[in-house]
Amino acid sequence: MLEIVQIPVLEDNYLYLIHDPVSGDTAIVDPAVEDEVVAELGARGWRLTHIFNTHHHLDHTGANLALKARYGATVVGAAIDRERIPGIDIAVGDGDQVHLGNVAADVYFVPGHTSGHIAYHFPTAKALFSGDTLFSMGCGRTFEGTHAQMWQSLSTLMALPDDTLNHCAHEYTAANGAFALTLEPNNIALIERMKAVKQLRLNNKPTVPSTLGQEKQTNPFLRPMSEEIQNTLGMIGGPLPAIFSQIRKLKDTF
Ligand code: ZN
Ligand code: FE
Repeated sequence: MLEIVQIPVLEDNYLYLIHDPVSGDTAIVDPAVEDEVVAELGARGWRLTHIFNTHHHLDHTGANLALKARYGATVVGAAIDRERIPGIDIAVGDGDQVHLGNVAADVYFVPGHTSGHIAYHFPTAKALFSGDTLFSMGCGRTFEGTHAQMWQSLSTLMALPDDTLNHCAHEYTAANGAFALTLEPNNIALIERMKAVKQLRLNNKPTVPSTLGQEKQTNPFLRPMSEEIQNTLGMIGGPLPAIFSQIRKLKDTF
């Protein structure tokens, strides 16, 4: 079974070490920084073999070259972003698989936040690494893609099993939940989750990962079909991509 270690860095970023005890292979997902990764690897006696990038932003690739130089790790990133992923060795796309030892991850193309964003899903570990695409109760801003692309990408991830743990790259949950409550003030699951989130943050604990099942119940970006959201927006019975787009627009200025 894979071991996953969450490393909080910078203002609100999460990095993840993924370790396969059978082969000893160890990956870091989206290394923004070097020192914290080196320290965590050293404390556990693990050697870095892979770097998995979800997208090209500096807070996800900043330590690619330093970690590659230090450990000789193999850098995996989106083929479409070959020019923007520092040190890329293996270029992947939708439907490809990458491996840690004998454990496979499926690659999903999920554009929207950036034009080349990908996600990694380890089905046997029920673990999804979604970068800046699917946040806890939120989704990434569409810097390079369209709202339609982001809705399509989130729909792709929603099709994974409900007990999948979504390891996203930022601790944005409390602010996302506050926005969600403006759209669905009567969503019991959302109200209950926000209580838990507030408690976790008070104790300086992460609210991430969450399950896709939890996200489907509380994340407004996965819920354009919600009657309450449609009612709040005055878009009852409207097309889901248009409702999603309106939610994204409102969040951009929340
Ligand atoms: Zn980003
Ligand atoms: Fe980011």
